[in-house]
Parts: sequence; C-alpha cells; structure tokens
Amino acid sequence: MKKNFLFFALTISIYFLIPIALRAQAKPYVILLSFDAFRWDYVNRGITPNLDKIKADGVWALSLRPAFPSKTFPNHQTIITGMYPEHHGIIHNDFTNPFTKEKYKISDSVSVTDPKWYLGEAFWQTCERQGIKTASYFWPGSELSDSTRRPTYYEHYEHKRNYYTIIKGVTAWLKLPYKDRPHFIATYVHETDDMGHRYGPNSPEVNRAIQIEDSLVGFLFNSLKQANMLDSTNVIILSDHGMTEVSKEKIINIEETIGSESKIDGVGPVMMIEPKTGKIAEIYDKLKRNEDHYKVYTRDNIPEYYEFSEHPFIYSIIVIADPGWTLVDNSSKASVMKYQQAGNHGYDKDFIDMQGIFLATGPVFKKAYRTGTLWNIDVYPLLCKILGIIPRSNIDGKFERIGFILK
Ligand code: AMP
Ligand code: ZN
Ligand code: ZN
Repeated sequence: MKKNFLFFALTISIYFLIPIALRAQAKPYVILLSFDAFRWDYVNRGITPNLDKIKADGVWALSLRPAFPSKTFPNHQTIITGMYPEHHGIIHNDFTNPFTKEKYKISDSVSVTDPKWYLGEAFWQTCERQGIKTASYFWPGSELSDSTRRPTYYEHYEHKRNYYTIIKGVTAWLKLPYKDRPHFIATYVHETDDMGHRYGPNSPEVNRAIQIEDSLVGFLFNSLKQANMLDSTNVIILSDHGMTEVSKEKIINIEETIGSESKIDGVGPVMMIEPKTGKIAEIYDKLKRNEDHYKVYTRDNIPEYYEFSEHPFIYSIIVIADPGWTLVDNSSKASVMKYQQAGNHGYDKDFIDMQGIFLATGPVFKKAYRTGTLWNIDVYPLLCKILGIIPRSNIDGKFERIGFILK
C-alpha cells in the first residue's frame, strides 16, 4: 500500500513538475541596453560595425520617439513603465513639489531613491510580481529604497565606473545558477551624452563616444557567445533621446519679460513658471506677446500632444524653447553665458534631433527587419509580451503599435 502511494506521489510530482520546468526553461532572456543621448542618425555614420550587424540581421527602427521633455530620467522611466512623465511622475530631471517645496534632483541620491516620486510600475517590478528574477546595472530609477520596487540585483550609480565592468557585470548575472539567474537585465552607458553636451553632436569627440559604445556591443555579444547564451538572449539597444547643437547666441532671459515675482524652475529647453496668485493670465499674456524662439502654454492650453499637464507638480505656465535655444533667468544667465555647452536635449519630442535609436536582435525578433519610427512608451508592453507576463492596465503604451517587430 505504502509502495503504491509512493509511486502515485512520484508520478503526480513528475507530471506537474516537468511541464513547469520546461516552461521555465523556455522563458527567454532579455537585455535592455540604453546608450544615453545616442541620436537616431549616429548609426548611419559608418563607424559602428557591431551595431551595423544588428541593423542587417535584426530589427532596426528609423528612430525611437522620446516622451516630452526629452531628458534622461523622464525617458528612462517612460521606457521602463510604459507611461508618459505626467503619469509616472518623473516630470523632469530636477523638479519641485510646489505644495511641500521638496525637490527631486538626479544629483541627489536621497531623492532619486525615494519611492514617493515614482508613480509608475517599472517593468522589473511587473516581472518580479509574476515570478521572474530581474537585474539592473545603472538604469535610472532602479535603486529605490523600497525593495519591492527594485530588481533582485542592482548596482548603485557611479558615473565613472568603467563601461567594460558594467558589461561584465551584466553577463556575470547570466552565468548564475539557473534558479538565481535574472531573465531581464536593464543597463545604461552615458558616453554619448557626456560628449554630446560638451562638444556637440557633430564633433569628433561624439564620434569617438559612438565607437566606444559600439565596441561595448561587440564585447557584450562575444561575452554572450562565451557563456553559451547567445541563442537564448534577446538584446534591445535603444536610447532615451537625441542631442542638438546649442550656442551662446541663442539664449533668452525669460525674467526680462516677466519680472522677478514668479517662481521659475528649469534652465535650458524647458522652463516652468508659477506666477503669484491671480497673476497667471497676466504673466502668460506677457510671454505670449513676446513669443519669439519659444512657445508658451498654460497647463490648460498645452496641446494634448505633449502629454504634459496632468501631474500636480507641473507649474501653471510651461515655456518650451525652439530647437537650439536656451531659456535662462537672472540667476542662471551668467553661468550659462560662461559655461554654455555645445549640445543639449529636452526639446519637443518630434524634433528630429531629439529622436533616439531602437535596434533589437534575438530569437523573438524578426530577422533583417527595417521599420519606421517607434515610440518609447511602447517598449514596456513589448517586454511584457516577450516574457509572457501581464502588463499593468494603466499604461500609455500599446503593444499593437510595436508588436509587429516580433516573429
Ligand atoms: P541629462 O541631464 O538628461 O543629460 O542627464 C544625464 C545624466 O544623468 C548623466 O550625466 C548622469 O550623470 C546622470 N545619471 C544617469 N543615470 C543615473 C543614475 N542612475 N543616478 C544618478 N544619476 C544618473
Ligand atoms: Zn539622457
Ligand atoms: Zn544629456
């Protein structure tokens, strides 16, 4: 009797366990690699042999449309949550809660890791809730102090860390024992952003940065091959936004137009203004009458296309500079005049220079498939489909707009 029971129990266990194990084995691996400010056309410069290979063998989009404002933290959150900044809450790299006066700043590790600012669910959290281990090596916003809102494995950001160390860290996670191994890894490299700001998108220094990042792609694929993971890993290479030339000749001091009574936040392509109570119409009219090389909107009349009105921390007036122009106030003017860089981003998401790249290769992707512009809000539902998990229902992204790149 006992023997029969044991045999029965064993049969049942095998029956249930094998399919689960097989299903788990079949779950693909995905690496999401972001090159900060890698403009859509950098892959057309004839200096990227490794990316050219993906262009030829995998999926290559004409460009990747960022969310507005085309800045680093808003867009990395958009990519990883499938939401516009007005919904995921990171509305700029630096911004203020006007009700409490608390500040979010990407250079402040306390605010960057404080979960209260982050209203969207990052893809790694969607995965972990559904039983999939994840990792992030430097993805902006992946170090939240709440362990349920970050990947199983993550690294604290260090701007100067060697890029090869980063890629080695990524592939080391893929060599972990099967039960500990993450199926999704997000990672980030900033060389093209640094050089783009400092020397401009058309400089030899940016070309060198492009080549450095391209070599990292070669290194990543060689490492995957050595780890015997090449056939089972999908790699998506994208960027958060592009870069355009700016200059000292294209600077507008907004305070000269509106006076010094209003609260002004932001220097560069986008500025937010909170006039004193009852003064919104007056300040808006002043800016509208002088509207030259910028566009001014109120929260109420900003075109829906910007998707930039619903979050409560967006001020009453939003000023968006024309491409290449820089908005300053009295306090920032001197330093901008002195240290103005050669490149910047943050402008309108459809301005061609703000567009990024999207390349993908691996078993789930079509082969040698060229497509038009994709939207970065759609990457999150794409990732959900690849890993076979259910996306959050409150996202802005749509799988139907991007799903055709899969086999
Ligand atoms: P942006 O001003 O939009 O060009 O921001 C780019 C900067 O974001 C980079 O130069 C990095 O210093 C910074 N950055 C990127 N990732 C992180 C991170 N995880 N934590 C803090 N800062 C970061
Ligand atoms: Zn960026
Ligand atoms: Zn930048």
